[in-house]
Amino acid sequence: MDLTNRLTDELITHFIGKETQKRIEDHPCYSKNAAQYARIHLPVAPACNIQCNYCNRKYDCSNESRPGVVSHVLQPLDALARFHAIKQRMPNLTVVGIAGPGDALANPKMTMQTLSLIRQSDPNVKLCISTNGLELAHYAEELAELGVDHLTITINTLDPQIAAKIYPWIFFNHRRYKGEAAGRILIEQQLKGLEAAQRAGMLVKINTVLIPGVNTQGIEALSQALKQKGAFLHNIMPLISQPEHGTYFGLNHTPEPTAQQIEDARSASVLHMPQMTHCQQCRADAVGQLASPCSSQEKDDVYRVAVASKGSEIIDCHFGHATQMNIYDITPNQVSFIESRPVQQYCTGKEDCDTPLPIDALKDCQQVLSVRIGLGPWQELESHGVMPNTDFAYLTEQQALSALAQSLHKTEKVTPLTTSNHEVVNQ
Ligand code: SF4
Ligand code: SF4
Repeated sequence: MDLTNRLTDELITHFIGKETQKRIEDHPCYSKNAAQYARIHLPVAPACNIQCNYCNRKYDCSNESRPGVVSHVLQPLDALARFHAIKQRMPNLTVVGIAGPGDALANPKMTMQTLSLIRQSDPNVKLCISTNGLELAHYAEELAELGVDHLTITINTLDPQIAAKIYPWIFFNHRRYKGEAAGRILIEQQLKGLEAAQRAGMLVKINTVLIPGVNTQGIEALSQALKQKGAFLHNIMPLISQPEHGTYFGLNHTPEPTAQQIEDARSASVLHMPQMTHCQQCRADAVGQLASPCSSQEKDDVYRVAVASKGSEIIDCHFGHATQMNIYDITPNQVSFIESRPVQQYCTGKEDCDTPLPIDALKDCQQVLSVRIGLGPWQELESHGVMPNTDFAYLTEQQALSALAQSLHKTEKVTPLTTSNHEVVNQ
């Protein structure tokens, strides 16, 4: 175990009381020992009130999500339905978060309505939000009254000059501010928000995007100051800066930090605050466990299956029409729902449609189940090592996966049918 991890575990064990330990023991982001629990992000918050130079607003909020992905925004009632559908399949779901695709508190109505609906329907699930902090002081008490227990603020610096290099503008109190004035207001509001959230009883995690040449120098002082204001956990995340994401930093070739730079920042910061070292920079609509439930030794025996889904329990979706894949890991003894992955719909029904197959979203899967699939996509998937399977059409996902698990039991290895021995149903 490296120094940062060891110090973090020791800090958490020695400096927080039993009551706080209890609050984090089933939250997979706040506790590395809670990897068996799952979280869902509900993408109900499209707008944002600031601009970060590592974010392209065509995509999800990069403060909590991986840049370059787009979530489909849900209305609060649809978000509630999604929560129920996932909870049925995933009894280990303990956390509901709102992390975009914009900023949760730049969309207060949608955020509060969603949190309230979830709380009314499930008094036990943990509620979380993440925010840039600009409006947090204003909403902290209301969030606490709705039962939000865990909250993330992205704070990258406490120096307005550095902030001016990260945020070209903010929109606050009906006015747009730029440069250092924007940075000063944002920092003031973030600190007020942190104190208000802490006073209201929330456990506050700080996300900091490490940007080489911009904010790498002041990380230890940042951690120390935020700890004094009541922050609980620090998540130092690497800048993702790829030109194809179209962000200011990406287009200007700002380098991403090296693993050593991240480790140096964390080991300086851990002297003041426990570190989160297992963040996956999820999507604003992420679902599932942060890591596979299996140990690395078990991983070899796990068979990963994708199910093309329209959102029902039944396998009734044509592969080309799927906008979502439900991912399961199966072993002879267990079927585990891992996550729902949004995919770009492959078949739009147009003659000249040239949408590529969603290979990237399926490359870790051995099989993909659907009701039907065309010969072309079948062969292409097969050539990438992903075997299509239409044998379970119109059965429930559970029936299909249990049958696959049983066949694993008998044969130790499922050998799916290939185009050479199976009739393919054309699109
Ligand atoms: Fe993008 Fe989030 Fe920054 Fe808003 S707060 S600009 S959505 S990264
Ligand atoms: Fe947890 Fe990081 Fe994912 Fe947020 S982005 S849910 S903190 S792992």
